[in-house]
Amino acid sequence: MLARLFFLRYFCKIYDTDNKHRNMIKKYPFYSLLSHNTFGIDATAAQFIEFQSESELTEIIREGVTHPYLVIGGGSNLLFMNDYEGTVLHSAICGVEVLTDNEHEVLLRVGSGMIWDDFVAYTVEQGWQGLENLSMIPGEVGAAAVQNIGAYGVEVGEFIAHVDTISIADGSSRRFSQQECDYAYRNSIFKTVEKNKRVVTYVTFRLRKNAEYRLDYGNLRSKVEEKGALCPMNVRMAVKEIRAAKLPDVSQLGSAGSFFMNPVVSSEYARKMARHYPQMPQYATDDGKVKISAAWLIEQCGWKGKRVGNVGTYEHQALVIVNYGGATGREIAAFAKAVCDSVKEKFDVMLVPEVNMVE
Ligand SMILES: Cc1cc2nc3c(=O)[nH]c(=O)nc-3n(C[C@H](O)[C@H](O)[C@H](O)COP(=O)(O)OP(=O)(O)OC[C@H]3O[C@@H](n4cnc5c(N)ncnc54)[C@H](O)[C@@H]3O)c2cc1C
Repeated sequence: MLARLFFLRYFCKIYDTDNKHRNMIKKYPFYSLLSHNTFGIDATAAQFIEFQSESELTEIIREGVTHPYLVIGGGSNLLFMNDYEGTVLHSAICGVEVLTDNEHEVLLRVGSGMIWDDFVAYTVEQGWQGLENLSMIPGEVGAAAVQNIGAYGVEVGEFIAHVDTISIADGSSRRFSQQECDYAYRNSIFKTVEKNKRVVTYVTFRLRKNAEYRLDYGNLRSKVEEKGALCPMNVRMAVKEIRAAKLPDVSQLGSAGSFFMNPVVSSEYARKMARHYPQMPQYATDDGKVKISAAWLIEQCGWKGKRVGNVGTYEHQALVIVNYGGATGREIAAFAKAVCDSVKEKFDVMLVPEVNMVE
């Protein structure tokens, strides 16, 4: 097997091939996180540290990371409630390394700081299948593996071979196999027992060359057919079009995408609800439960497009809470709680935030 190495310079926000051995650690005291969260909250971190390699990260850990600390990616799933009185760590490890490329599959090792959609664009341009449905999801590669991002019937966990991490406590490294990552709907071991204990440094993806396309979600199939041939690029284009029509552009309107997860209820409860609300969208899960649409529940409570001060739900998608400008994290959280309370009162279903709230 001939290993090929691609360091894709244009994918990297900061990448310095000529200075590999120079210390590129960046440390900033009292650092504004405004450009590091898509909700547009102007919180300040007591310290912000960015590293570009595993050795830089271990050096930072050896010197000591002051508590509390938080690892962030692109901040597209974070809500800062206050200034952050601790250390924010950010990976700028970039690059794609092709480990295996044969007629059946390709194995790719990717730096956790790479922009997720740049990576998807790269795989699609190569004609490799798998990630096209996950086009245009904001954020970085490391967080994608933490969050188990998903869209249009695909979750990233199924394409992850393993995840490389470094412990913040002692700098030791550990590789998690796909099974050890314990992937579930928007969940992984990095959100449960390993939460905020490790930094993801690299994610290795296995993309099959003869995988089946997943087009049975919403109007995706017809959108792809409009584009012509069935290929990763046309699926990506269709997904981009659908998303652009449904989701806010975070450069214009602050948000973190879906604020809540879709609730998963027992089949018995789902049947009961269907008797009262036959039009309620329901999706069977693999474990015999039923996923119901949080957006639908919120819409039924009259929240779609509703605005309170600087916060509201997006006019085209009730599940997305938006910052119309100048809202604080606390205002957004209070709005989310009001939405949650009314869904609980009307449907007796508790919505769980997908967004990570940072105190
Ligand atoms: C407009 C919009 C649309 C969206 N659509 C979708 C969608 O379709 N599907 C979906 O699943 N999500 C969606 N999201 C949510 C978001 O894009 C994902 O959760 C994404 O993976 C977050 O990436 P990030 O780099 O911004 O991570 P952050 O928000 O910075 O962090 C998310 C979590 O990951 C942890 N983390 C980040 N990097 C690392 C690392 N290197 N090591 C260890 N832990 C780390 C953080 O501590 C935090 O707990 C959307 C968001 C927006 C704003």
